[in-house]
Amino acid sequence: MLQYLDKYTSMIIKIKQLIIDGDYELKFVRSFRGYKNLPIKGFLIPETDTILINKNLNDQDKITTIIHEFIHVLHPDWPEYKVEKKCLQLSKQLDQSDYIFFQNLLS
Ligand SMILES: [Zn+2]
Repeated sequence: MLQYLDKYTSMIIKIKQLIIDGDYELKFVRSFRGYKNLPIKGFLIPETDTILINKNLNDQDKITTIIHEFIHVLHPDWPEYKVEKKCLQLSKQLDQSDYIFFQNLLS
């Protein structure tokens, strides 16, 4: 159990570190028009290290989507279902300071 917790915690730390390093630009967009056939919650553009997040989501869904897209960054080879599964696990592991960290990204 402790081992699992460590594993999830360390991935959240990696994601927070990527955000702190500032190599990725988070953009909150009102519409995904022009990005036809792409998922509507969020999207990673690897070529420009840009992450698009749907502005219309509630805060919790925005945070989940940010985590989802950064799992894609860390594991570009993972299929969608695996990213989604990991994202769900990580979202449940967020502590208060993680939550405040991600909340701050939304304003
Ligand atoms: Zn995805």
